[in-house]
Amino acid sequence: MSEKTPVIPASNFIRNIVERDIEQGTYTSRRRARSPGDAKHHATGEPDPAKIRTRFPPEPNGYLHIGHAKSICLNFGLARDFGGVCHMRFDDTNPEKEEQEYVDSITDSVKWLGFGWEAFGESHLYYASNYFDFMYRAAESLIESGNAYVDQQTAEEMRVNRGTLTEPGKNSPWRDRPVAENLALFHEMRDGKHADGSMVLRAKIDMSSPNINLRDPAIYRIKHATHHNTGDKWCIYPMYTFAHPLEDAVEGVTHSICTLEFEDQRPFYDWVLEKLAENGLLAYPLPKQYEFARLNLTYVVLSKRKLIELVEKQFVSGWDDPRLPTLVGARRRGYSPEGFRLFAERIGVSKADSWIEYTILEDCMREVLNASAERRIAVLDPIKLVIDNYPEGQSEDCHAPNHPQKPELGHRVVPLSRGLWIEREDFMEEPVKGYFRLFPGNTVRLRYGYVVKCTGFEKDADGNVSVVHCEYLPDTKSGTPGADSVKVKGNIHWVSAAHAYTAEVRLYDRLFKEAHPGAGNRDYLDDINPDSVKTITAQLEPALKEAKPEARFQFERHGYFVADSRDSQAGKPVFNRTVTLRDAWQK
Ligand code: ATP
Ligand code: MG
Repeated sequence: MSEKTPVIPASNFIRNIVERDIEQGTYTSRRRARSPGDAKHHATGEPDPAKIRTRFPPEPNGYLHIGHAKSICLNFGLARDFGGVCHMRFDDTNPEKEEQEYVDSITDSVKWLGFGWEAFGESHLYYASNYFDFMYRAAESLIESGNAYVDQQTAEEMRVNRGTLTEPGKNSPWRDRPVAENLALFHEMRDGKHADGSMVLRAKIDMSSPNINLRDPAIYRIKHATHHNTGDKWCIYPMYTFAHPLEDAVEGVTHSICTLEFEDQRPFYDWVLEKLAENGLLAYPLPKQYEFARLNLTYVVLSKRKLIELVEKQFVSGWDDPRLPTLVGARRRGYSPEGFRLFAERIGVSKADSWIEYTILEDCMREVLNASAERRIAVLDPIKLVIDNYPEGQSEDCHAPNHPQKPELGHRVVPLSRGLWIEREDFMEEPVKGYFRLFPGNTVRLRYGYVVKCTGFEKDADGNVSVVHCEYLPDTKSGTPGADSVKVKGNIHWVSAAHAYTAEVRLYDRLFKEAHPGAGNRDYLDDINPDSVKTITAQLEPALKEAKPEARFQFERHGYFVADSRDSQAGKPVFNRTVTLRDAWQK
C-alpha cells in the first residue's frame, strides 16, 4: 500500500443509479405486504409507498465503528433523500456468535447518528433468523427445480475439486443425484440424522465457471449449534452468500449496497434470486447488489479482530475508550452525529479502494463544533498571576459571549479577582522575538477583563516560575468606553483562582503514531502512540462545574472538549479533549 493518501473527490455513483431507477420507474410495480415474505405474501399487499428500499445489515457480533458510519449514512441517507426506507436488519444467521449487548449497542449507535427505521406506519427492524423457514423452502425449491444437490464429498475433496483460478473444477460424483434423493437427504440433514461436515447442500451451477464463486457454492451446512433466536429448532444453517439475497428479497429491498469484496458474489446473488423468481417464490423486480469501497482511515484500525485485541489486551480501557474508532468511543470523545454525516458526504462513495486522511474527519468535527459549541475558558497548564494593585477579597463580574458569531446564545459572567490562573506558556522570563504575551514590563489584555502590566515574577526552589506579578490599568475594562485607550498586542485567557473549578481533563491524541498501522510487515501493535492520552488537572471557569454529560464546548485557544459521559458526577464533570483547534499532525 502506498504511503501517500490521496483524497478522493466526493461523488456518489450510487446516487446516480437510484436517480435513474426512480426516473425509469424500475421499482414502481412492486407490491408489499406489511411484513417480509414470499411472492404470494407480497401480492396481497398494496403498491409499495417507499420509492426505494435499502438496508443496513450488521452481524450483531461486535460494536459499530467509523467504517459502519459510512455505510449507515449512505444507506439511511439514500432512503431519506429519495422518499424511501432503510431497513435496520440484524444479520444473525450464524449461530453461537450473536449477543443482545451488541444488538442494543448497534441500534443505539444508528439512532445516535440521526437515523431511524419507522416509516409508512411500520417499524423496519428485522432479524434475518426470522427467515429461516423461508430459506429452507427456497433451498427445497432449488432442489426440486434441479438447481441444488446434496454433496457428500469431504471438505478436502471439495476444495481440490473446486479447481483454481487457472484450472476448471471437477464435478462431484454426487452432482447428478435424482431430485427425490436430494430432497430426502436434505430432510435428513434438517432432522439431525447427519454429523456436522458430513454433507452440504450445493447450488448446481457450473464447475468450470471462470468465477470460482459460481462453481457449485455451498448453500446450507450442518451445524449442531444453539441459535440465540431459534434455539435448537435448526441444526442446518444457510451460508451467508445464500442467505443475504433472500433476506433482501423477502423484505422488498431494491438497492442492496455492500463493500467491494462482494463484487465477485454478485453473479451468484443474481442467480439465486432469478431461479427463485422462476420457481414463483419471489416476484420481479428483484433486488440488485451494488458495491462501494470500504472506508480506510489513516492512523486507525477498523478490523474487528484488531479492535477486539486492543480491548482484550487492555491497550485501551474498553469498547467506549475515547481513542477507539468505535461509535461508542467516538461519542465519548465528543465527536458528533452531524460531524459524521458531514464526513460521509464529503468523502463520497467510490468504487476504488483508497485511504482517507484522518484530518478530514477531524476537520468535519471542528467545523460542526465551531458552529455549535459554546465557548468557555480553561487553563490547562496553570501558574498564578497576582494583580498586586487589585484589592484582596474583592471580585467583579466580567462578561464573556457564549459564541462569537451567535449573539443569540448570550453571555455568561466570569468573576475576576486578585489571584488568577493563567497558562504557563503565556509568560516568558526573557521573551523570544515576536512574543507579545506576558514578560516583565509588557502589557497584555486579560480577555474580557483589564489590560495588565507585568511587574515581576517569583521562582520556586527548583528554579521554575511559580507566580507572576502584574498591575491592572483601571479604566481599560472590556466593554467600557475606555477599553481601547491602551493598545496591546497580546490577549490571554485566565480564570479567577478563588472561583475556579479544578477538574480532571484528558488530552486525547491519536491511538497510532503511523498513518498506516502495521504497514510494511510491522506489527500494528508496535505502531501504538505511547502518548495517546495525558490526564491533567486544569483550572476551569466556574460555569463548567454544571456541565452535563456529553455537553460540548470550545475551550478558547485550546480546542473542543466534552464532559465525559462515564466518569463525570453531578457538579463534578471530567472533560475529554475531542480535537485541538488546529491540526498539529500536519508536517
Ligand atoms: P465482519 O468482518 O465481522 O463481517 P464487518 O465489518 O463486515 O465485519 P458487518 O456487521 O458485517 O461487519 O457490517 C455491516 C455493514 O457495514 C456491511 O454492510 C458492511 O458493508 C459495512 N461496513 C463494514 N465495514 C465497513 C467499512 N470499513 N467501510 C464501509 N462500510 C463498512
Ligand atoms: Mg461483514
